Amino acid sequence: ASAADLVRSLTTTTPDFPTPGILFRDLSGVFADGAAFRTVVAAMAEPFAGRFDAVAGAEARGFLFAAALAHSAGTGVLPLRKPGKLPPPVLTEEYDLEYGSAELQLRTSVASGLRVLLVDDVLATGGTLAAARRLLEKAGNVVVGATVVIELSGLGGRAAVEGLEVAALVAEG
Ligand code: IMP
Repeated sequence: ASAADLVRSLTTTTPDFPTPGILFRDLSGVFADGAAFRTVVAAMAEPFAGRFDAVAGAEARGFLFAAALAHSAGTGVLPLRKPGKLPPPVLTEEYDLEYGSAELQLRTSVASGLRVLLVDDVLATGGTLAAARRLLEKAGNVVVGATVVIELSGLGGRAAVEGLEVAALVAEG
């Protein structure tokens, strides 16, 4: 099966979670299936092969894909963390979520002068990727693109990261 078919068959969609009005995609089935996880991670990396020297993912689901992708590509991984997890010095970016608002932090000392690929499970409004991009650029890196498993096209997330190459395995309404 193709990576997109695996994502479609192993992902669940739950209405009104975690808050009313949100249609929540859960990728636990992809993580739990070793062959599917490997196929999905390889397909996420493929459009950017040879063009990045680090992978960045946002806590927490982004970490799973970012670490796996970085490991298979032989690059490092830059964890973008929620506030209060990293000791100083850190850079901070605030952003709006589909549900609520949040902050991401990056340990500045480990990330500079790198070509960085952003990784996440779901692209919704694009707020998370936009904040991740600002954070990494502030630290002196070049963000070469973003790769996600599912893009919720109706929310217009690509506009939030204008000019950035974005790859999605599956695009939904
Ligand atoms: P955005 O910032 O609005 O694009 O939202 C994307 C972030 O919220 C990602 O880090 C996702 O993990 C999370 N997210 C948004 N919608 C969903 C969903 O339906 N399932 C899982 N995660 C989601």
